[in-house]
Amino acid sequence: MDRERLQRLAAEFCDESPTNYLSLKAEKSREDVRRNNFARNNLYGAPSDAELLGADEDSGYYGMRFYKTPVFAIGSADDPGFEELRREGVVGPSHRLPRDWTPEAKSVISFFLPFADRTVEANKKDPVEPAMEWLYTRVDGQQHLLALGARVRDALRGEGYDAAAPQIEEEYVMRAGPAPMPGADLRGVPPYASNWSERHVGYVTGLGTFGKSTNFISKVGCAGRLISVVTSWEATPDEKDYGGVYDYCNGCMACRRRCPGKAYAGDGKDHRLCGEFIHRTCMKYAPRYGCGKCQSGIPCEREQMRAKAGGSGADARPDAGGENRI
Ligand code: SF4
Ligand code: SF4
Repeated sequence: MDRERLQRLAAEFCDESPTNYLSLKAEKSREDVRRNNFARNNLYGAPSDAELLGADEDSGYYGMRFYKTPVFAIGSADDPGFEELRREGVVGPSHRLPRDWTPEAKSVISFFLPFADRTVEANKKDPVEPAMEWLYTRVDGQQHLLALGARVRDALRGEGYDAAAPQIEEEYVMRAGPAPMPGADLRGVPPYASNWSERHVGYVTGLGTFGKSTNFISKVGCAGRLISVVTSWEATPDEKDYGGVYDYCNGCMACRRRCPGKAYAGDGKDHRLCGEFIHRTCMKYAPRYGCGKCQSGIPCEREQMRAKAGGSGADARPDAGGENRI
């Protein structure tokens, strides 16, 4: 494996994979929905009924693309930042280290998949209601996010490396709310967190920083999703061009003013209020859900804002959680 091949593989997969396009009901099987832990990663959805996750051919949404070409950063599995994530007040002791996923881990690859322009533009129109494009991308598009992790993991395995994509592995645990699912093995994971926070991992690998929204701002902005792969492939780590957790944020607070759930107060975000708002969207649009007003219609949606930042906030500790929590 090398960087050029990795970039090509990810770009071609996103162009060509049917998982990156909204499909008709008839094309989406129950096996598609179960594969790659789609159900577990979509807790508000209704994955038991695959047909609900399709779309009508006449809807105007059929065939829409979910994600643009991904960007990625590669970090060393030995980066001390991974240990830092286990501290109370960062993510916590339940956060796993790279070698908990792959014993011979040498590298961690973080991908950021930017939402398609159509999705971001559509979600700017109404200040409260999520655009249908956003709902489709958040729920149906989840399959593509996970499929990219599987594709990269399997390509590395095919070349003889060990590899794991934590979000689709059995050991992955996330808690979308305070109440545990009946019988769930929580492994010490606190509410609104997971044992592998893609946003925090992205920060450690050099992919980007946090914003005042608590969202992750990559070099191509915050409107998108993340997934990572841990591997024994020993790649040269990326140089980080930031030193503080808010370096890509200019502190304008546009994200907070956009929030229809009134989830921001003081310096933090009330994940319970965000979760309640998301739940209300699920009641209305089930099996889909979503909001994303704090990821669209804001200055950092497509670019990082470091050039205009007033300070690095190097001592701040962004918490885990929220719709974008993974
Ligand atoms: S909208 Fe402004 S304050 Fe919010 S994350 Fe983006 S740059 Fe930071
Ligand atoms: S996703 Fe949550 S925090 Fe973001 S705007 Fe919506 S309700 Fe607010």
